[in-house]
Amino acid sequence: MPTVDYRMARRALLRDLRSGLRSVADVCDAHPELMRAARFIGEETGEACPICEQPGLRVLFYTYGKELKGRENGRVRRRSDLLELRERFGEFACYVVEVCTSCSWNHLVRSYLSGHKHAV
Ligand SMILES: [Zn+2]
Repeated sequence: MPTVDYRMARRALLRDLRSGLRSVADVCDAHPELMRAARFIGEETGEACPICEQPGLRVLFYTYGKELKGRENGRVRRRSDLLELRERFGEFACYVVEVCTSCSWNHLVRSYLSGHKHAV
């Protein structure tokens, strides 16, 4: 399954923050909608936030694809929904975003293609 990992970009961003090239306000800018989704359906990672060090960093899964119609496209999902989507659709992209509900830090963690065309 083709996957793009954004950990390098995340590390670079955190490095810029420590060296003062970016401010906390620049990186802790989660949209209220994203914050709400993280609170209600975000999945706990068991990791601490890289910015405020509070526990309870969460991840959200967003799905996009040509086969996903209307409200289905760009919707935030629970991990359990992804299995059902994989059976229903041939191909869609899933974006995993981490969000801190304490300080609004948010970053794309990974994206990958899923669907029954990509069954492993
Ligand atoms: Zn935080």
